[in-house]
Amino acid sequence: MKIKKGDTVEIIKGKDKGRRGRVLKVFPKKNKLIVEGLNLLYRHTRPRREGEKGQRVQFSAPINISNVMLVCPKCHKKTRIGFRILNDGRKVRQCKKCKEIIS
Ligand SMILES: [Zn+2]
Repeated sequence: MKIKKGDTVEIIKGKDKGRRGRVLKVFPKKNKLIVEGLNLLYRHTRPRREGEKGQRVQFSAPINISNVMLVCPKCHKKTRIGFRILNDGRKVRQCKKCKEIIS
């Protein structure tokens, strides 16, 4: 998985194109993730009791991973991610633009 929880991503497709947010959750099997405050949808709840109103609950819907790009924490550009093996054998993510290691 190239994108992890806590990363900042930019949406590159759809109605929130160009907007950035923090990744709250990743669903690796579905190739989807949830970005804080983006891709908002409303869920309508029905009134449970008589005299009660139905509510509109706003929530961030999952976005396909192919619709976002990582925003590099070092150069603040949206970038593709590469991988690099360090001398101690650890595999780390690397920004393809500024070549900095992304933890
Ligand atoms: Zn960078």
